This record gives sequence, structure tokens and C-alpha cells, in this order.
Amino acid sequence: LASTRQKTQISTKTLLRKAEGFHGHLGPFLAIGVRLGQFGLKKLNANGLERSLRVSLSILQKVPYSCIVDGVQISTGCTVGNQKLQLKNSEQIEACFEDLSSGRNVTVALSPMVYGMLKEQIVGKNLPDEEIRKLARTIASMSEKDLFVVRNR
Ligand SMILES: [Zn+2]
Repeated sequence: LASTRQKTQISTKTLLRKAEGFHGHLGPFLAIGVRLGQFGLKKLNANGLERSLRVSLSILQKVPYSCIVDGVQISTGCTVGNQKLQLKNSEQIEACFEDLSSGRNVTVALSPMVYGMLKEQIVGKNLPDEEIRKLARTIASMSEKDLFVVRNR
């Protein structure tokens, strides 16, 4: 179990680095996207290479919330361009992951506590870059059970 955990952390770090390069900056919502995608894949026993994988992501379609999109794209391989990622406008932050070949799906929402904490700390504030990166690292190291709520199985 310890080694599995270790592997997950290493890959989160790698994915975050990729996501930052793709997205242009590192912030907590990008980190949420990465973690959300990883968690959804894990729940479906998927690795992101499946052609049958689909993600439907509900978010407010404006910065900083939309930063989640790039994190999800990097961690799942489901993108707007390959039509495997669909975006919905919503106050809720939630993603439905589906494997069309097995018919399995899972819906994962961001914990209201984490969402509230980030809104309070970030939205409308003009935080220095280093503070924003620090929040991203906090999100990256939180446990899945503190970050997410699974809606169904
Ligand atoms: Zn961003």
C-alpha cells in the first residue's frame, strides 16, 4: 500500500509539471483538475489510454475555475479536441467519468469545503504567484477523500 501511494504521488508531481507547461501557470484549480482526472481514472480502473473513455466536466467556465479543464485534459487524455471531453457550465465542480466499453461510470464532485476554502482565499484577491503556487501544492498533497465526494458508482 505504501509503495502504491508513493507511485501516485510521483505521478501527480509529473502530471502537475506537464499541466503547468501546457497551461502556462500553476494554481490550485489546475491541480484540482489533475487530481480529479487521476481519481476518476482510478475509480474506473482506467489509465487514460482507453479509446472508450469519456469525461463530462461541470464547472463555471471562467478563470480560475476553467483552469481545471487543462488539468483534467492532461491527466485523462480526454480533451476538447479529441471530443472525449465535454464541458458543462455549472456552479458545481463535478466530473462524470465513463468507460463506454464496460458501461462503468462514476461522478466525482469537489468537496464543498475545499471549494469554499479556495473561493475565499483566491477569488477576487490579487495573491502573489508564490502564494498561488503554494495553494496548488497543498491541493496536490491532499488526500482524495478530503478533496472529493463520489456521487455514485
Ligand atoms: Zn490557470
